[in-house]
Amino acid sequence: MAEDTPNISSVIRDVWGFDALRPMQREAIGAGVEGRDALVVLPTGGGKSLCFQAPPLVRDRLAVVVSPLIALMKDQVDGLVSNGYPAAALHSMLDEGENAEVIRQIREGELRLLYIAPERLVNPWVMDLLREAGVDAFIVDEAHCISQWGHDFRPEYRQLATLRDRFGGVSVRAFTATATERVRTDIVEQLRLRDAEVLVGDFDRPNLVYRVLPRMDAKAQIAEALGRHKGEASIVYCLSRAETERTASALRDQGFSARHYHAGMDPDDRRRVQDDFMQERLDVVVATVAFGMGIDRSDVRCVVHAAMPKSLEHYQQEAGRAGRDGLEAECVLLHSGADSAKWRDLMDRSAREAGLDGASPEQIKLLWEMRDYCSGVTCRHAALVRYFGQEFTKDDEPGGCGACDVCLGELTAVEDATTIARKIVACVARLDQRYGSGHVVDVLRGGNTQRIRDNGHDALSTYALLSDTSTPVLRSYVDQLVDQSLLARSHDEYKVLRLTQAGIDLMKGEGEARLIEPKMPTKRPREQRAASRDSADWQGVAQALFEALRGLRREIAGEMSVPAYIVFGDTTLRAMARDKPTDVRALGRIKGVGAKKLESFGERFVGLISEHEDANAQEPA
Ligand code: ADP
Ligand code: ZN
Repeated sequence: MAEDTPNISSVIRDVWGFDALRPMQREAIGAGVEGRDALVVLPTGGGKSLCFQAPPLVRDRLAVVVSPLIALMKDQVDGLVSNGYPAAALHSMLDEGENAEVIRQIREGELRLLYIAPERLVNPWVMDLLREAGVDAFIVDEAHCISQWGHDFRPEYRQLATLRDRFGGVSVRAFTATATERVRTDIVEQLRLRDAEVLVGDFDRPNLVYRVLPRMDAKAQIAEALGRHKGEASIVYCLSRAETERTASALRDQGFSARHYHAGMDPDDRRRVQDDFMQERLDVVVATVAFGMGIDRSDVRCVVHAAMPKSLEHYQQEAGRAGRDGLEAECVLLHSGADSAKWRDLMDRSAREAGLDGASPEQIKLLWEMRDYCSGVTCRHAALVRYFGQEFTKDDEPGGCGACDVCLGELTAVEDATTIARKIVACVARLDQRYGSGHVVDVLRGGNTQRIRDNGHDALSTYALLSDTSTPVLRSYVDQLVDQSLLARSHDEYKVLRLTQAGIDLMKGEGEARLIEPKMPTKRPREQRAASRDSADWQGVAQALFEALRGLRREIAGEMSVPAYIVFGDTTLRAMARDKPTDVRALGRIKGVGAKKLESFGERFVGLISEHEDANAQEPA
């Protein structure tokens, strides 16, 4: 057995400064060291990189990593090189000199990892070069990109199917965070993995606190969530470009360090936002999903979705960008019944553009599953983990998972929900299923609008039936009923509310409705578990020192033009601010401090810690 050979542990301690492997990492690295084919499925933040980065060092041979994004490659290579790992990347952003240097390194056998884009790898000249260099393994990162069933199909990945023919004896290992069975099978087949070790890690991310809220006042709700993470890295996802711009500007007005990011921006501006975020000069990025895969910042403490994504796969990917360092982080999802309608429209429209009748049943199923998650009132961790086909039992324990709005008891059920629902559904019936939610709500509230007067709707029996309930709350109730299929919304631009069989039954007194009290954002609720600084991760951490260490990290990252986390992650900085090592040897014992980093910046960190300790000692008690 290759696992736990002293060689593996010492390499990992030496290069990365990690003293233990995570559960699935041990097996994955073992398969790599034995030179076996493998498919490794670990959630975002699960620690996939180490699984393919460690074996080439142990085997002392070159492995080639296929990766879809240049930004992603560059960050990984920067990180490896800062650890003293011989790695490089071949991509279109290199100038001639850099390109020649990488080719020289390949020829001379100096590298253990080479990152490359798929379209470049299949170039015959590159293939020959790699064959001559004696490549030992191919690593396909983000391997779901090969599958049409995944959430990020990339046609150029398809050509990787030829690797098997061109490199007979070389092993192939695929890595992904996408867990659906179909994508998994597709990857194994397309890459023609042989006798592959299939390793699927635990899909739960216990350090993430999930909250799902009906959208009432999006800007206020977003600001409220971000307010729990002032000065920390956060990402806000919006559905449209215009919305990212509006939201970022509103957040700036409220004193947040926030910028927008979307694919329609000038590439230079986009790069600047990304660099500022990576180097900790910017806290909040408000983005479309274009901001994603290339973002490796591991200390993202909060991810807010301003609207519902189109599938739980997407949600898991995007929310999963929080807390990759394993420390507590928060994921807030705002949704409204209008979101699924909007997605349906978009799907239908793009299907028609592709010459089809409309959205495929598969797409719609994924969308409904996402919607059910939003309107559900079961433990969020349990719902997500089960969706990905795994078991979850913590929700049965007292206090549940302790890390979602449901288990933390933050959702208040409306007591007379069924009665309220009957009134709303009855009003839709009285209005002959001809109006959208705005008018239905006006009638229920007993409004005095032109439309009500013109149509004599103030004479309806359902007029003013719910006059005590505010407009945003009533709107949220309508959305929640749509989510429970007690009402439906037309798929055209008018979004007319219609009756459903379940709604008709409800009016007749059959069945029940469930409504959650939508909460208007309040000032920082103290009792909420919010990955705030009183959580266990902060136990014993001198916070002023931690901030000073972050400052030094930012300074060094700026000097080296690398993302700040490449210098040291938050876990490592917090351990420093807890143990306060004042000599280089003690610093070397901190998790995440490898030999190379100790040599490169050990003195500066120790210097800062000593300074800080001296200053504290001089302070009068
Ligand atoms: P993934 O690619 O699966 O999303 P990463 O490889 O980026 O995850 O790892 C996530 C974080 O976990 C990184 O900050 C990494 O340094 C850290 N990490 C990985 N393995 C270990 C380990 N064995 N011990 C401590 N930290 C680890
Ligand atoms: Zn829970």
